Amino acid sequence: MSAQEFIPPEADTLDELKAAAAGCHGCELWEHASQTVFGRGAAHARVVFVGEQPGDVEDQKGLPFVGPAGHLLRRAVDDAGIDPSTIYITNAVKHFRFEMRGKRRIHQTPGPQHITACRPWLVAEFSLLRPEIVVVLGATAAKALLGPDFRVTRSRGQLLPWPASAHHPEDFQAAGPGAAEGAAKSTAERAAKGAAKRAEMQALATIHPSAVLRADNRDLAYQGLVDDLKVVAKQL
Ligand code: SF4
Repeated sequence: MSAQEFIPPEADTLDELKAAAAGCHGCELWEHASQTVFGRGAAHARVVFVGEQPGDVEDQKGLPFVGPAGHLLRRAVDDAGIDPSTIYITNAVKHFRFEMRGKRRIHQTPGPQHITACRPWLVAEFSLLRPEIVVVLGATAAKALLGPDFRVTRSRGQLLPWPASAHHPEDFQAAGPGAAEGAAKSTAERAAKGAAKRAEMQALATIHPSAVLRADNRDLAYQGLVDDLKVVAKQL
């Protein structure tokens, strides 16, 4: 199963992708979740943040990173000195995976099959956004983007070439229709602009903001997140 068949081949805006994702049945997670939670943010984002999956609050509101972890991330973005108007935030998996315990919905980490099934949406978002820096939040997103062997604890805060460091970099090298290149008049112009922008792209992994909320020493964990994001801010 895969999201691929639900992606409109001619989509050239994020809104078109988002509308199509609302009807995605690329894996079974849509059956119990409330709705698809697509990415949101600047269409010409310089920094794209990729998390794991929507949480309980996000599932209900239909927006990514609007729960406690999202608030913490936005504070860290501010504290790191990244302009919030230049970011886009999304998840590797776009439906909430959970199990019921009594009346509570408890987060379950998405499996490799969900990450693989949902990956085409991420590739489609990237083909339009073409950010300068991709910030990978936590182990699940790192597996989705940087491969199963990538360890956030070992390599966090380091700038990596993108898409060269991606798992299956060819997915992210394909020239997309390019909303970011909307001003370009011809396919050749778009391809040239896209290639130039891609050449400058980098990725950086850090912890997921929910890990800060769970940490024994929250202040220390928060400072670590901000320090990693300061590496991003310096590059912009
Ligand atoms: S998690 Fe992804 S692939 Fe699965 S149904 Fe939702 S949008 Fe489609």
